[in-house]
Amino acid sequence: MISSSFVRRISLMKALLARPVTEPAPPSTKTGARSRSSGSVQLRHVDAGSCNGCEIEIAQAFAPVSDAGRFGARLVASPRHADGLLVTGVVTKNMAVPLQKTFEATPRPRVVVACGDCAVNGGVFGGAYGVVGSVRDVVPVDVEIPGCPPEPSEITEALRSLTGR
Ligand code: SF4
Repeated sequence: MISSSFVRRISLMKALLARPVTEPAPPSTKTGARSRSSGSVQLRHVDAGSCNGCEIEIAQAFAPVSDAGRFGARLVASPRHADGLLVTGVVTKNMAVPLQKTFEATPRPRVVVACGDCAVNGGVFGGAYGVVGSVRDVVPVDVEIPGCPPEPSEITEALRSLTGR
């Protein structure tokens, strides 16, 4: 006679060996820099020589109307806690080394977002005497947000391209 505990063990073995009944996960839409994050991105902001216009728009991007935070984007206080950098402004001579050091302090894989025309291509300050160049001239850039300054919604959209949300 077969005991009930033996039957339960057989059922358990069958359940463990059977294929899962859940549906397969949808194919990933992540590409490029986006694949470095998984639904969220923590960014250390670096002002490399901005006029502060971009900072005002970044503040608005994280304010209730655009609310980049609800899409998984967050600003953090240290590059050690960050997935990447959000850089504003043309890179001045005094900020080239700090920007490079902050980049090196960010754990790999790291993403760099250049926010505003100055960061992307030098903007109105390109070629000035105290300027090294755009962000790309100092550290590799993954995402560019053009505009002088960019709209908060454009900043949020760019950050969403990183979080995938
Ligand atoms: S892009 Fe425009 S707003 Fe932003 S730092 Fe440069 S001059 Fe200022």
